[in-house]
Formats: sequence, structure tokens, C-alpha cells
Amino acid sequence: MSAMKVALTIAGSDSCGGAGIQADLKTFAALGVYGMSVITAVTAQNTTGVVSVRELDAEIIRDQIDCLFKDIKIDAVKIGMVSSAEIIDVIGERLRAHRARHIVVDPVMVSKSGCHLLRPESREELVKVLFPIAEVVTPNLFEAGVITGMKIENLSQMEEAAVRIHELGAKNVVVKGGHLTGEAVDVLYDGECFRHLRGRRIETKNTHGTGCTFSSAIAAYLADGHPVSEAVRRAKEYITGAIEHSFSLGRGVGPTDHFY
Ligand code: PLP
Repeated sequence: MSAMKVALTIAGSDSCGGAGIQADLKTFAALGVYGMSVITAVTAQNTTGVVSVRELDAEIIRDQIDCLFKDIKIDAVKIGMVSSAEIIDVIGERLRAHRARHIVVDPVMVSKSGCHLLRPESREELVKVLFPIAEVVTPNLFEAGVITGMKIENLSQMEEAAVRIHELGAKNVVVKGGHLTGEAVDVLYDGECFRHLRGRRIETKNTHGTGCTFSSAIAAYLADGHPVSEAVRRAKEYITGAIEHSFSLGRGVGPTDHFY
């Protein structure tokens, strides 16, 4: 039997389990890779929103990363909520030191419920430190707009944003179009070609953690040895199915089903 592939998520904890570390680990399990976690921050949240956030200090984040890389071969890394410039710097420095491969960066900024998961003053640091080590970055329209300063309202503007984000150092860029009306089209740009990833639009309010799940699915497929375009295509299929099977939980925005 071949060795199990290993994926690591570096992200924040979501106490209600639909996003963050919890969504990432469920995704890894559903896609058959062994999941590990480095927690950057703890959020107190439920389906109606985030109540409070506590960042962990840089030292324990560094120690979590170091002890895993010293012991275990890690096939892919997903980075989600990073919260502050100090946390971004320690993640970037340690991942470079360990020559981490197949890094997927989801530039998480604000939750759907409107809570800042990255201090606005740390946005530039995220781009400067983490994009150059990323094999794939997965901004949504809001994040792509913040990063490029563009107003993005159609497919050709998504392509232009992808080119600009590629110029900031990310090898591959997926601009997610889920927030546009009509078909749910994402744009993948590898520095040479565009690919349009079309998905069925599913009418549901239960979309908590979809961005986390999509980016960790890309990391899982990269860990499994797929090339980027195939990993992104499969991840899109997986998240579409997970949204199709999303369900109501609590009084607010419910989660997707990772194990459909
Ligand atoms: N909580 C944590 C810890 C997250 O990392 C994220 C997204 O990355 C969210 C919440 C936001 O989830 P959503 O905006 O899908 O509700």
C-alpha cells in the first residue's frame, strides 16, 4: 500500500465547525488525505456570526509549524485566516525555511457575516509575504478587488485582476466568481492561459465555509499529485457538490456537507 498523502492547514478555528480549520480537516478527510492543523487564531462564532477573535502568539504558531515539518513529510499546505502581520511573517519565514511545497493561499479578509478575519492594515503584508510562496491563490471578488484596487463586475475584469495578482508573485490565480449574478464562473490563470471553470449555481443560503472548503480541496488534490489545473477542476466539482448538499443548522447560515 502506498503511503498516505499529508496536507496541512494553517488557519483559524471556527467553533461552529463550518469554516476554518474544522472545514479544512473535514475536506482533507473526505478527499482521502491525512490532515494536520496549525491554529493561528480562535474565533467564537455560530451560524449567525463571529462574536470574538483571539490571535495566538507568534511563538506557538512557529512551534506548531516547526515540529510538524521536522517530523513529517508534508505534501501540501493550505493557508487560510492569518489575522495579523506578525502571524503572516512567522508563517512565511518558517514555510520558506522548511521549503514547503504546494502552498495554497486563501487570502481570507472578511467573513460573510462582516467580521474582519485579517486586520485591514495587514493586507499588504499578506500579499507581500505569502503570494510569492504560493502555488495557487484563491481570492473571491471582494478580495481580488482589495488586492488590485479594481472594481470587478464581469469576466473580463476577473481576468485582468488575475493577471495583476499573478504579477504580485502567485504562480496560479483563481478568481472566484461565486458572488456575481448568473452562472458561477471562476477564472484560473497560470501566467499564460485563462481557464473558465463553470459551475451550476445552487440557490441556498447555507454557504458558510465554502471558500475554506474550496481552497483546502485544491490542497488535498495537489497533495495527491494532481497538476494545478486538474486539482482546481476537481476542487470546483467537490465544492459544488458540497453546496448542493448544504443544510440548515442553527438560526443563520448553515454549512456545506463535506461527506456527501
Ligand atoms: N471563520 C474562520 C475561522 C474562517 O477561516 C472563515 C473563512 O475563511 C470564516 C469564518 C468565514 O466563513 P464564511 O465567510 O464562509 O461564513
